[in-house]
Amino acid sequence: MRTGRNWFNPSSDLLPILNRINCVDQNRVVVRAFQRSLKEESLQRGRKVRRSAADQLRRRLLMRLEYQRFQRFKFPLSFIRWAETQGLSANRAGDAWFMVWALLQSLRSDIPSRIRKCPWCGKLFWSRRNSDRHCSALCSLAAKLLADQKEQTARLLEERVLRSKARDQELRLRFGASHDEFTEHYKRLFKLVHSCVRRPLERLTIDNVDDAQATVAVWRYVFKGVQTASPRLFTCANCGKLVWRRDARMRTCGRACQLQRWRRDKGPPTRLP
Ligand SMILES: [Zn+2]
Ligand SMILES: [Zn+2]
Repeated sequence: MRTGRNWFNPSSDLLPILNRINCVDQNRVVVRAFQRSLKEESLQRGRKVRRSAADQLRRRLLMRLEYQRFQRFKFPLSFIRWAETQGLSANRAGDAWFMVWALLQSLRSDIPSRIRKCPWCGKLFWSRRNSDRHCSALCSLAAKLLADQKEQTARLLEERVLRSKARDQELRLRFGASHDEFTEHYKRLFKLVHSCVRRPLERLTIDNVDDAQATVAVWRYVFKGVQTASPRLFTCANCGKLVWRRDARMRTCGRACQLQRWRRDKGPPTRLP
């Protein structure tokens, strides 16, 4: 494991969790395809490629509509389900979520201002430059690319809105008032989840985190698959205190705990005959 102060690189380390909140891993595929098609465009300079980019943009816009309606349930739901598998109650997991983002903000105070929402597709992204307003090259060209297809796009969106309204109606008929309750509940939950990510929080140090165990679990969840950041926060195997890990072999908070643990694991010394 790398040591030193630069182990946390938010632009890449936060990407997996932002993607999960966005619920659209697909977007990365779309951006890559667009970059490929831009290359082709420079070769061909034809209208064909331009149209295919516009098609992708329309698809994104539709995805955003879907997101507004359904995906806002998806993330809190999957988070609560994950917490259950860890033996954490929803409240404990929620508090730990807050604590993890507060700890992260204590490492990088610019997190709330750097995580932005793309005005075009609604995706959360890390802005590398202050002037970044869109999540990708594709979205920054959106208005231009769709300029000559306004009517067609509007028609498509209207159709999709109507369809989703009908689906809502159908759900309300089937589940009655409980459907509205469910919707409201998850809307609130999503707001809570979101607010920790994008709002400045009162910064924490590891000494004033209440629930060390849950915080470590949520930390690992946030940095799932991120080799450098995920193992950084841990609880001492002897006293349970929350500690930053300096190197990969660290299991305890310090010498004293290491010695105690070593003695305990070894058991009482056996006497030689
Ligand atoms: Zn975008
Ligand atoms: Zn300890």
